Amino acid sequence: MSVVSDTETNASDAEKKYSGAKSTASTNLSSLSTRIVRASLKAGRNPADVLLVAISKAHTVERIRETLSAGHRAYGENRIQEALQKWPALKSDYPDAQLHLVGRLQTNKVRDAVALFDVIETLDRPRLAAKLAEEMSRQSRHLPCFIQVNTGEEPQKVGISPKDADLFIQACRVEYGLNIHGLMCIPPRNEESAVHFAFLREIARRNDVASLSMGMSADFETAIELGATHVRLGTAVFGERPIKP
Ligand SMILES: *Cc1c(COP(=O)(O)O)cnc(C)c1O
Repeated sequence: MSVVSDTETNASDAEKKYSGAKSTASTNLSSLSTRIVRASLKAGRNPADVLLVAISKAHTVERIRETLSAGHRAYGENRIQEALQKWPALKSDYPDAQLHLVGRLQTNKVRDAVALFDVIETLDRPRLAAKLAEEMSRQSRHLPCFIQVNTGEEPQKVGISPKDADLFIQACRVEYGLNIHGLMCIPPRNEESAVHFAFLREIARRNDVASLSMGMSADFETAIELGATHVRLGTAVFGERPIKP
């Protein structure tokens, strides 16, 4: 079996492999699972506490089906429109598939999002919290939410500012009655992601928030070391995303 040798390759070899024709998403998933187990054990953590969320944005239904039939169940999409085209059919074939929203949610798409997704990872502002609360009661679908924190305070990036995070978490719980399951971040491109992961973990700790969605293809092992419970892997699973026409 190739599982052992896959895990022996270093990151850059592994990256080349992702885009290779031989490598399929399901074999990538099995070697990534091995790496997640190793990183968890190395950090003294239970591997069962880390969920691989396969980010299937820009990939076709056929590619996703391949991983569903191999047994993978946790997925993420970043656009409502695209998810609506791909996922109703997939979910009817795999009712236990769990779909995470990992992209910005506009308030006018909240109804569709609550109906289709199982986890909202990008709650980032009071107006959205209010809208989600209203829509979740209307549909009786009380989805777990992650609050996205803009740990790098980048003006172009969404996410609540770290200085407002404590109050916002409190308001989401008390005022809006939302199920705040975790925090999520996307570190700035050119910065050490470990600093941002540790920062997010600290905000979660002092607010008693259970889960941390952090770490992508390039840095998920670091994220696991720093407490990630959800790693969001796109390229590492499916290869490079096709370029949009
Ligand atoms: C696309 C995306 C990912 C996956 O990124 P990769 O580098 O391809 O693993 C993770 N999180 C979010 C929010 C994304 O939009």
